[in-house]
Amino acid sequence: MRVTSGTSMAQLHFTVNEDVCYGCGACIGLCPTSALSMKGLLALIEQSQCTYCEYCLPNCPVDALLIEAR
Ligand code: SF4
Ligand code: SF4
Repeated sequence: MRVTSGTSMAQLHFTVNEDVCYGCGACIGLCPTSALSMKGLLALIEQSQCTYCEYCLPNCPVDALLIEAR
């Protein structure tokens, strides 16, 4: 899900839906800034490294990755 249109980066927040992520790891290698890592069976975001490029979003099979306005 994305809401980046017309929104500055400072207003954005990347979220992993922990109720949905099952740790497949498909998103990890796609991130150009290595902002995503695995913690057990959960994708973990390092917020300060995320540029909100959205590359990872369509590759999650369960739509667990979200970019939201704060
Ligand atoms: S939006 Fe871009 S920078 Fe942020 S976690 Fe996804 S691939 Fe990495
Ligand atoms: S692709 Fe989706 S389900 Fe797989 S680890 Fe990443 S967030 Fe979790």
